[in-house]
Amino acid sequence: MRILVVGGGGREHAICWALKKSPKVTELYCAPGNGGIASVAECVAIQVNQFEEIAQFAIDHTIDLVVIGPDDPLSEGIVDHLEAKGLTVFGPRQNAAIIEGSKVFTKQLLRKYNIPTAAYESFERYEDAVAYLRRQQAPIVIKADGLAAGKGVVVAQTLDEAEKALHDIMVAKVFGESGNQVVIEEFLTGQEMSILSFVDGETVCPMVPAQDHKAVYDNDKGPNTGGMGTYSPLPHIPQAVIDESIETIIKPTAKAMVAEGRPFRGVLFAGLMLTPNGPKTIEFNARFGDPETQVVLPRLKTDLLDIFLAAVNGRLDQMEIEWSEEAAVCVILASEGYPASYPKGLPIEGLEDVQESIVFHAGTAVKDGAIVTNGGRVLGVTALGRDIAEARAKAYADADRIRFQGKHNRTDIAKKALV
Ligand code: ATP
Repeated sequence: MRILVVGGGGREHAICWALKKSPKVTELYCAPGNGGIASVAECVAIQVNQFEEIAQFAIDHTIDLVVIGPDDPLSEGIVDHLEAKGLTVFGPRQNAAIIEGSKVFTKQLLRKYNIPTAAYESFERYEDAVAYLRRQQAPIVIKADGLAAGKGVVVAQTLDEAEKALHDIMVAKVFGESGNQVVIEEFLTGQEMSILSFVDGETVCPMVPAQDHKAVYDNDKGPNTGGMGTYSPLPHIPQAVIDESIETIIKPTAKAMVAEGRPFRGVLFAGLMLTPNGPKTIEFNARFGDPETQVVLPRLKTDLLDIFLAAVNGRLDQMEIEWSEEAAVCVILASEGYPASYPKGLPIEGLEDVQESIVFHAGTAVKDGAIVTNGGRVLGVTALGRDIAEARAKAYADADRIRFQGKHNRTDIAKKALV
């Protein structure tokens, strides 16, 4: 079969890497791809927002299935656009991708269907939001309604900080239209956990859980990033809590989306907080997480293409998905300065010295035949092992073998899971 993956980050590298293992895949393309994806797929110079060009490419190359990686094109309706041209697409339509694209929509959905989440109110007018805020207590969480590249959430330690966040979002409009509405939300405490699921209407096939590390420095210090590393499984979290999250949050949400006339088909990513009062929803994403995918897909034993095809054909309920017992740890190697500004185009050395890990490329490019840095998060080094300790040791040993000027990585990925 001929497959086109849309996207160009570490997530799409992991998707292409997993698809490449399928004996049914005869041609694999990725638009736009990156320096590492080029080793498993043919990269096509089309950007993810060029819907017309993506459709034309897929038609010209008789693509059997298009897989959408990132959130922006999903929210902008890429699936509807490609389906209207007769193409088969794995990913939610625009009316379901709203579960990531609008936090107000999702909070209302969760409230309506009694699905556990933080208490909240939403506002369209700055004055109303401020008046409500002044009656609350800190810490408190302020969220821009729309997509904001992972930066639209402020966990405010004081009401002054929260008021400044409201001003930035609603008045200064630092996230543009995404700040037309805000959610003011109760601060939750507990461990965070991500569960990604393959979903087709009411059928939910959960993947193995993963935990991300958002802050840029060790011990969760410094500003938040897209994610500095992940691991799976989570040995310190009881299976009963994982099962409870699936039964009380993920399955009811898929059902609620069907009831709302917005059936979700694709990967539903649940960001959860394991509070003393049980698991609660922090957010949903409408696609594979990055870098969660880099530890989850290496543990997948079932052919990923078979799962995608089952989902697009409404047969996910007949799939038995198998996972490896092995543990996986992914350490992100980032550019100096990330998540603020960083240099690009620096040569990367030592990739050929990597011994036991899979290196997923996030922000790389090929320049004069050599791999160079081309983003904030540059590479994700993922290793498998009998347990977290072994996977972690392998991933860090290989992470040390890779060199580029200003390379930065956290040294405590998965440390929590060792005790
Ligand atoms: P992402 O990049 O994960 O898509 P996002 O901008 O959609 O991020 P959220 O995932 O909703 O934002 O929140 C980002 C982080 O803020 C969470 O991972 C969590 O650590 C923290 N957070 C969000 N909501 C709450 C809450 N109610 N209580 C405590 N912390 C929270």
